[in-house]
Amino acid sequence: MKIFEQKQVGTEQIPLGYVHSIETFGSVDGPGIRYVLFLQGCQMRCQFCHNPDTWQQGVGTEVTAEQILTDAVQYQAFWGQQGGLTVSGGEALLQIDFLIDLFKKAKTRGIRTCLDTCGQPFTRQQPWFSRFEELMRYTDISLVDIKQINSRKHKQLTGRHNENIFAMLAYMLAHNKHIWIRHVLVPQRTDFDVDLIRLGQYIKTLAPIVDKVEVLPYHTMGVTKYTELGLDYPLGAIRPPTPTRIKNAEKLLNCAAYTNYQAYPGYLEA
Ligand code: SF4
Repeated sequence: MKIFEQKQVGTEQIPLGYVHSIETFGSVDGPGIRYVLFLQGCQMRCQFCHNPDTWQQGVGTEVTAEQILTDAVQYQAFWGQQGGLTVSGGEALLQIDFLIDLFKKAKTRGIRTCLDTCGQPFTRQQPWFSRFEELMRYTDISLVDIKQINSRKHKQLTGRHNENIFAMLAYMLAHNKHIWIRHVLVPQRTDFDVDLIRLGQYIKTLAPIVDKVEVLPYHTMGVTKYTELGLDYPLGAIRPPTPTRIKNAEKLLNCAAYTNYQAYPGYLEA
């Protein structure tokens, strides 16, 4: 794994973050209105990815946690009881040292923190695992994308197997770290009843920590980015799922059963 650079500030070594973009009024990446930081870098290659421009690691705008928080707090008045700071990507966990610094400093300012991840970098190997445990101490909630329950199909769809992603979710369950689960519904890739039923059963095993389950219909808005980057678009002529198939997936994943997000309990208190 690439270790990102650090900046010397006084006697302290400050980890630098590499940012792809920032959304100051995000309303879909966690509870309430949020300042959403999209970090650069991802090692997955999801066929449906609509942000292939986030894949490359070690590029983007260099920032420190202080710079981000100074910018973010300008919008704090809009966050209300639930909103705050979300870090997404790319894959945010690839910049875990920066994330720890950012979330730790956010918590000291009373800012609610949300991690948006697909879990791909998760490992129990040291020193990474200790860093992840530290990050979880400063993370109020995580949005976890489960791409495919079937590991073979997951590999075809994303280039990676999924066992370590389930190991991360097992850790979160064991430590009562609350999550929202998101699942992109792609015809011919993830929209199979057999997989959706299995995924629904698996999510049930995580029920104590699952506050929301969302089906995200595949869309083709990323196609032009592939053209701009000179990449072939992997899903070719596959169209978005029909409303009937979206409803079917929501039923098989029991989305209606996970409603904690509507009445946010104390664990999200800053
Ligand atoms: S994990 Fe996210 S950023 Fe990475 S390839 Fe998949 S959809 Fe794209």
